[in-house]
Amino acid sequence: MLKESLPKVITELPGPKSKKIIEKRLAETATAVACGTPAAIERAEGCMIQDVDGNIFLDFVAGIGVMNVGYSNPKIVKAAQDQLALYAHPQANCIHYKELGDLAERINKIVPGDFKKRTFFCNAGAEAVENAVKIARKFTGKKGVITFTNAYHGRTIFTMAMNATVKPYGKGFMGSTDGIYRAEFPDMYRLPKGVTEEEAVQYYVGKLETMLKTYVDPDDVACFILEPVQGEGGFTVFPIEFIKELRRICDENNILLIADEIQSGWCRTGRTLTCDYWAEIGVYADIVTTAKSVAAGLPLALVTAREEILECCAVGELGGTYGGNPVAIASAMAALDVMEEENMSARALEINKICMDRLGKMADKSGIIGNIRGLGAMIGIEFVKDLETKEHDKEAVDFILKDCVQNGLILKSAGYMGNTIRLLMPLVISDEQLNAGFDIMEAAIDKYVDVI
Ligand code: PMP
Repeated sequence: MLKESLPKVITELPGPKSKKIIEKRLAETATAVACGTPAAIERAEGCMIQDVDGNIFLDFVAGIGVMNVGYSNPKIVKAAQDQLALYAHPQANCIHYKELGDLAERINKIVPGDFKKRTFFCNAGAEAVENAVKIARKFTGKKGVITFTNAYHGRTIFTMAMNATVKPYGKGFMGSTDGIYRAEFPDMYRLPKGVTEEEAVQYYVGKLETMLKTYVDPDDVACFILEPVQGEGGFTVFPIEFIKELRRICDENNILLIADEIQSGWCRTGRTLTCDYWAEIGVYADIVTTAKSVAAGLPLALVTAREEILECCAVGELGGTYGGNPVAIASAMAALDVMEEENMSARALEINKICMDRLGKMADKSGIIGNIRGLGAMIGIEFVKDLETKEHDKEAVDFILKDCVQNGLILKSAGYMGNTIRLLMPLVISDEQLNAGFDIMEAAIDKYVDVI
């Protein structure tokens, strides 16, 4: 079975059939949506992908965190198929259907916080973030939105401007930056000179407080929004002590705290949601956005908020044609069952141990890995030219990615300097498959070190 197989490349890449598919895509579709993997998929199971030429790849990216539960789980496939046969999309404004309340009830229980919550359904991550900000503005009557350096929240005209860099996401699109302010991400790897690790959190909190005294008046700020583990920005984790201080600042200034869990959610980091870790120290977000793995590959995004916040919006102020599609919801209900039954959060923690062990050894041997970080199975490996100067080594990542895929391992980079490899393998991966992937990665790193 494909699910249990190991990577095996039997043709040149791309193979002849893949080549045709790739050529047509490149000729007919927007090339702004790019893909570096030299293969076209035929089918996938678990964490394994077979291409149209018969090559078998191990997937360490999972559609950028969409397939946490693995590809083609029969329970999820059946749930979606059964729903499609009943009714595809009656539209939430036209007739009531059971799936909306059922999933919302479940999500409202999962999102941490011992208070009444409600959920609004939409289709994509960026749409969820846009709506979260929209709701925060309406509720607080304030306009300002504070995001962080290295943030990524989407590609709509507003979320694009919330991102940390214009390149490659915003250049030339004239995103609406009106009301967006940027705070400094508490980077524990690249600390400013003279700041020790022990002092770091207080240092960054101090900077935030100064920002609210000088640069932006808290009376103008509706919300802070952050990714508990930054995704596109490089798989960097917000220290929990910083979150605690941020919550205090929010409470003191009537500012909402939004957790964007679009990439970090759904068992990825060792809890159902990463903000479950916050709950363990008594800190809760006011609004949580999720998407990606919740529906195991079907488009579904969720904005879950304290009841009084979501209910500040009057009839007609929220919505959209496809929000809460029943087929996507059926897939989500089944995916949540699978996550629970297979205890995928615990598996993410086991995966973390194997990753840290293998990566630690690779770091010691190669001398080009400056930082290994993350939570659970959301791990970033940062490559540097020099361990002291920490100069970004994008060439190393480019080389390793290319070499790995030639040997059957699909990887993707992260970080605005392109020098971090992100690990987001489906959580159904076996130890054997995980180690097979790391064998390929280790050989690629060895090769790169030999070349330089
Ligand atoms: N927020 C975060 C944290 C994300 O990782 C992403 C997607 N990578 C988005 C928002 C945007 O989601 P989408 O691509 O579904 O619009």
